[in-house]
Amino acid sequence: MSNLKVTVVGAGVVGLSTACAFQRAFPNADLTVVAADIDSGIVSYVAAGYLSPTVAKMPTSDLAVLGKWTAASSEHYRAIATSADSDAAGVGISPLCELSDKPNAEEPFFAPYVFSCRRLTDEQLDYLLPNARSAGIATGFQAVTVYAQGSRYLPYLMHNLRSGGRVTVRREKLNSLAEAAHGGCHLLFNCTGLGASKLCSDPDVYPSRGQVVRVHAPMQKLALHGPGAFYVLPNRDDVVIGGTAGAGSFDLNVSETDTEDIMTRAYQILPALRTARILGAHVGLRPYRRGGSRLEVDRGLLDGLPVVHNYCHGANGVGLSWGSAVHAVELATEALRSGRPRM
Ligand SMILES: Cc1cc2nc3c(=O)[nH]c(=O)nc-3n(C[C@H](O)[C@H](O)[C@H](O)COP(=O)(O)OP(=O)(O)OC[C@H]3O[C@@H](n4cnc5c(N)ncnc54)[C@H](O)[C@@H]3O)c2cc1C
Repeated sequence: MSNLKVTVVGAGVVGLSTACAFQRAFPNADLTVVAADIDSGIVSYVAAGYLSPTVAKMPTSDLAVLGKWTAASSEHYRAIATSADSDAAGVGISPLCELSDKPNAEEPFFAPYVFSCRRLTDEQLDYLLPNARSAGIATGFQAVTVYAQGSRYLPYLMHNLRSGGRVTVRREKLNSLAEAAHGGCHLLFNCTGLGASKLCSDPDVYPSRGQVVRVHAPMQKLALHGPGAFYVLPNRDDVVIGGTAGAGSFDLNVSETDTEDIMTRAYQILPALRTARILGAHVGLRPYRRGGSRLEVDRGLLDGLPVVHNYCHGANGVGLSWGSAVHAVELATEALRSGRPRM
């Protein structure tokens, strides 16, 4: 029997996580990663990469599945953050205030899956953030969660992948998934984010434009995540301040007006940021899909070849990437068990 050959299309955080998770399960397989963009320039590099999925931004309405992804991701990042790899991987543990403009906000979805999460009393909210109420914040939860900074975490995944087994990486913009399978493979993972719209003719895929400002603010250790796409999220090398959410917009240009709005709101809630040096503004397109993320085996697309779709995790793709990758590999394992297609 020929050696197991598997192709992963996409080298964002979802594609690389899926490739790494597959390699762990099948260390002797021949893996090929094909992607148009392999380093910066993709949304996975723009994100602050916090694990804090909330009900408002669920990538799937199946809460059992989402819980499984959140738990697996949380444990994966915790293990890296508490190892000697933490610095190189840009993966850390961070205190986070989840803020709401609703007086009786429910406990966030992620609460059971992170190290701790408790409701702040009014006094505690005022103590930590004396300017929050005047900016419309009514309640908050204080949690301890994990994050992965894309500019370090993606090269870390790629390094692990290349040193973990037989891996070929090809930079190529595809017009169809069939092009990626060309040359033969037993299974293909489709992790192309917004690219899935064209590659598998998915009419439900759409972007949500997000702009952030990165600042140098080493004194800012507390992460804030609030309503209206407001957040201040410390990473390994800088602090990410956001943001915007423009459903349907493909505009990748930085808007000076957005930068001004983002910083004005941040200064209002955290005046300490006024002295922070602005390093730059960045725009990314979050991959969304009406009906939620797609994670399933599809045998109808490429003549019986199992295609495992794993795309469109919206505003939570970095945080949930490891959990969704493990799930995709479980589906792939079942598909391979039920018989390898002939090449
Ligand atoms: C401002 C902002 C802040 C965010 N903050 C967070 C956060 O704090 N936490 C969090 O979890 N998430 C966050 N996100 C969301 C997160 O960035 C995304 O969900 C995630 O990066 C998506 O990863 P992906 O691998 O699916 O897609 P991508 O990173 O877009 O990767 C897709 C890959 O597919 C390839 N591809 C696509 N089409 C083709 C083709 N035709 N041929 C070949 N290759 C192709 C691309 O080249 C690329 O390699 C944020 C997003 C934004 C914009």
